[in-house]
Amino acid sequence: MRILVTGAAGFLGGHLAERLLREGNRVVGLDNFITGARSNIELLRAMDGFEFIEHDISRPIDIDGPLDGVLHFASPASPVDYLEFPIQTLKVGSLGTHNSLGIALAKGARFLLASTSEVYGDPQVHPQHEEYWGHVNPVGPRGVYDEAKRFAEAMTMAYHRHHKVDTRIVRIFNTYGPRMRPGDGRVVSNFIVQALRGDPLTIYGEGLQTRSFCYVDDEVEGIVRLFHSDRTDPTNIGNPNEFTIRELAEAVLEETGSQSSLETRPLPEDDPKVRCPDISVARSLLGWEPTIDLREGIRRTIPFFRERIAASDGVTARTLP
Ligand code: UDP
Repeated sequence: MRILVTGAAGFLGGHLAERLLREGNRVVGLDNFITGARSNIELLRAMDGFEFIEHDISRPIDIDGPLDGVLHFASPASPVDYLEFPIQTLKVGSLGTHNSLGIALAKGARFLLASTSEVYGDPQVHPQHEEYWGHVNPVGPRGVYDEAKRFAEAMTMAYHRHHKVDTRIVRIFNTYGPRMRPGDGRVVSNFIVQALRGDPLTIYGEGLQTRSFCYVDDEVEGIVRLFHSDRTDPTNIGNPNEFTIRELAEAVLEETGSQSSLETRPLPEDDPKVRCPDISVARSLLGWEPTIDLREGIRRTIPFFRERIAASDGVTARTLP
């Protein structure tokens, strides 16, 4: 197959493109590098069957040649990134999704939208199953991401119903692993970088809020299975093992052997208090569930950050202002 991956320089887009190339597909990667890394594209360029286009998918583009799949992964995706790029986040979720769907329609390609657990907002149903409509503050600081992705889901379903485009929607829960940007500001990258540097681990609020962390290889496997399935409705792909942020901090300190202290910072506005996927749909329809637990995933992730810190003095965590 020949597949377009928007956001190919990003953490998930890059891993996904690599997996598709390894399976013998041809991949057209597209990115504008506002939050993606050129090093991810260099890794992909070293593989057979990869082409790259530097472009902002919020603006229309024609892609030469046939396409069998369009995977729309372009977007700032960590809270500090989408707070820094609020307008771009709204545009890539709305206009970027529209443009990507237009390409899929024109090429007769299957389309997959990278959606998010953020569509559930600060959830009042726990764990979150796909039928839950969510609890999102549209005008809060996180609204730029949450509402863009909710619009993207609505646009995807409209193209499916109206234009008969063959679509998939994956709701991705917190994912981590090697090749996360050290400064992307997410909790896993922040804690590992802080622990390795001997800096205090920054806990927002009491640290009693929960997240459910999925190792990147598990996430990519789930996404690929969904892409090849015939499931059109949104599908949760995430790890259902739930941890408090304090538990994550303890796990990172133990696995790195760090003596770092814990430092409390204010809880960001609208920070979801709990998050955990109900993955019964993925289990029954895709035969998928995560295989790598949090401790193992952290152990697999630490060497990447250790190397990055050794290679450059400027590698630090990025906390909210
Ligand atoms: N968090 C934290 N310290 C940090 C970064 C994040 O305590 O240095 C918390 C944050 O408040 C949230 C959770 O960790 O409750 C996950 O944050 P992240 O930015 O990774 O993603 P989110 O799940 O909020 O989109």
